[in-house]
Amino acid sequence: MLHNMIPVANPKAQLIAYQEQILENVNRVLNSGWYILGEEVSSFEKEFASFIGAKFCIGVANGTDAIALALRATGIAQGDEVITVSHSAVATVAAIEQIGAVPVFADIELTTKCIDPDLIEPLISEKTKAVVPVHIYGQPATMDKIIAVAQKFNLKVVEDCAQAHGAEFNGKKVGTFGDAAAFSFYPTKNLGAIGDGGAVVTNSPEIADHVRWLREYGWKKRFISSLQGINSRLDEIQAAILRAKLPYLSRDNARRREIAEYYIKSIDREKIIPPMKIDGTLHAMHLFVVECDQREALQKFLKEQGIGTAIHYPMAIHQQPAYFGRIRGSDALPRTENLYKKILTIPMYPELTDNQVERICTALKKWCA
Ligand SMILES: *Cc1c(COP(=O)(O)O)cnc(C)c1O
Repeated sequence: MLHNMIPVANPKAQLIAYQEQILENVNRVLNSGWYILGEEVSSFEKEFASFIGAKFCIGVANGTDAIALALRATGIAQGDEVITVSHSAVATVAAIEQIGAVPVFADIELTTKCIDPDLIEPLISEKTKAVVPVHIYGQPATMDKIIAVAQKFNLKVVEDCAQAHGAEFNGKKVGTFGDAAAFSFYPTKNLGAIGDGGAVVTNSPEIADHVRWLREYGWKKRFISSLQGINSRLDEIQAAILRAKLPYLSRDNARRREIAEYYIKSIDREKIIPPMKIDGTLHAMHLFVVECDQREALQKFLKEQGIGTAIHYPMAIHQQPAYFGRIRGSDALPRTENLYKKILTIPMYPELTDNQVERICTALKKWCA
């Protein structure tokens, strides 16, 4: 049977879905003659802060910088240890090392696949200053316990929300629990630009000011650097594109969860383990990642059915050449390592048609039969 391949991600489908508004907004920027840090960025910052339920949002160049700048603005500096996970995009650790801080790895919970709050305390040393929980795949980390440990040991918390725009923990959006939070607007994220983009969100006016200075050469006043900053600005065109899409983010996330329900109903848990449902959390369903003992065979089978898949990620961070053997905690990550043998990402984006979803469900049922 001939099939059109269903790609595992499809950022162009989102352009098509919101094309009219996107083109109108982009044209507005082009005609304005103002391309860096203007009205689009400041309006987007207000709109995104309001969506998350935080007081401040500062647009930056990408999600990696957002983590790095959020850490710096909360006072993390050269040599400070930051506890995070090896089960994440490399960006999380690259951001920590970008500011000279030292990542330390804790293992994950079997439920959320996010940092296990009980494994933070045993890793704390005199140098430990912060925790970066990652809401992986859109599943919120166990924030109440993470905040409790952080408060007990006076650690800062910077949430990595790059995969979790709109996810909720106990009825509150992620990004509002820590001292600050980082978002990415990479094209395939739940809220994606057409290029790079990122943001820091915080309730602290001091942290917000600090990020604003750092993102533009440490300028408190134009042209006068008061501290050592960098250039990491969200540009006007990307902000205008994000403003076109933001009003539909909740609806798009709901559609993602609806598609996930169809997938879950088609899966026999003896053969494929779908993401676990966790009480008190609302999943942003950035990625639909299953666990399968015969991952390679399942991937091949789905490909034959015209369904693209991916592996997020083929190696945990501590297993990759740039990080192997040099990050404290790497020798005690059995859950992370076990997970990495089994994970497979099934197509998940709001623009999947009912017909495509049905094809994917049929293939999953067929595999499980
Ligand atoms: C995408 C991503 C980032 C980095 O975002 P960029 O905008 O690509 O720099 C950070 N952390 C996680 C978990 C991500 O998925």
